[in-house]
Amino acid sequence: MLFPSDWLPQAPLELLQLDWLTTSGIEVAILRLDQIDPLISGNKWFKLTEHLKAADRTGAQGVISLGGAHSNHLHALAAAGKRLGFETVGLLRGHPQQTPTVADLQAFGMQLHWLGYGGYRARHDPGFWEPWQARYPNLHAVPEGGGGLAGALGCKALKQQVSSQLSTLGWSDFHGWWLACGTGTTLAGLVLAEAGERPVYGALAVPEDHGVAPQVEAILREAGMVNAGYELFDASRGGFAKVDPLLREFIQLSEQASGLPLEPLYTGKALLALKEQIESGRFESGTRLIFVHTGGLQGRRGFTSYS
Ligand SMILES: *Cc1c(COP(=O)(O)O)cnc(C)c1O
Repeated sequence: MLFPSDWLPQAPLELLQLDWLTTSGIEVAILRLDQIDPLISGNKWFKLTEHLKAADRTGAQGVISLGGAHSNHLHALAAAGKRLGFETVGLLRGHPQQTPTVADLQAFGMQLHWLGYGGYRARHDPGFWEPWQARYPNLHAVPEGGGGLAGALGCKALKQQVSSQLSTLGWSDFHGWWLACGTGTTLAGLVLAEAGERPVYGALAVPEDHGVAPQVEAILREAGMVNAGYELFDASRGGFAKVDPLLREFIQLSEQASGLPLEPLYTGKALLALKEQIESGRFESGTRLIFVHTGGLQGRRGFTSYS
């Protein structure tokens, strides 16, 4: 079994204390997906769970997937393989390079193959998986990032993790979710879990023309859901992985004031976008929100300009 059904790491839920929140009268609790396990971290674990169950249904002995040299997805997969004792193979974009992420993948026992850039671009071609499936007949292939409906279904579990801990905050309920979006898979999972009960607000880490909304819609349609309650905000600050001085300073000050570690690509941008929305009056005083810390801290070691 790749996925032991009785093993689901629990993310702690904590109140976030920052001056700009206190002033606004808005309360935010953080669901710390960065702290689910000593090895595995972030939303990528939840996106993997349904894929692991599918692998178990076919009797696979491990998982093969792809990503870049800083990939949070490959990191979570390799960590899960190490933690739960299954084989992992990673197909990497570009040419061999040593990053902190790559060093971890190797230490976790993931077998790596570098595809170059052209080879990686071919990942959506119809025949792409054939030679890999021939080479690794006992492995289950997971698409880049663990996305799609399977990825979203795994993220439904986040709602339960919040409900079960709400009382520890002294909250009886909350008004909505706020989280960073790359493909929108995690957001789609929360929208499915809420089924219209509470809105889900997505802070886009990629520019608006990256097609996140159509991807979210496709997942929801496939799951048979219409008129779902969610809203997307541009939080990309000029492009994915663009880091400006204001963002860098915001992350540093937030960390110092609250002790909450953030990285600049997703969680830092998402929290800054929330601050901007609160300052522009988007939420009334008394609103209670869950901010999902989607992890990604392992990847920030790749930012040499960021320390
Ligand atoms: C991948 C990732 C996201 C985006 O998740 P999606 O499901 O693709 O929207 C957000 N935050 C972090 C830290 C990630 O690694």
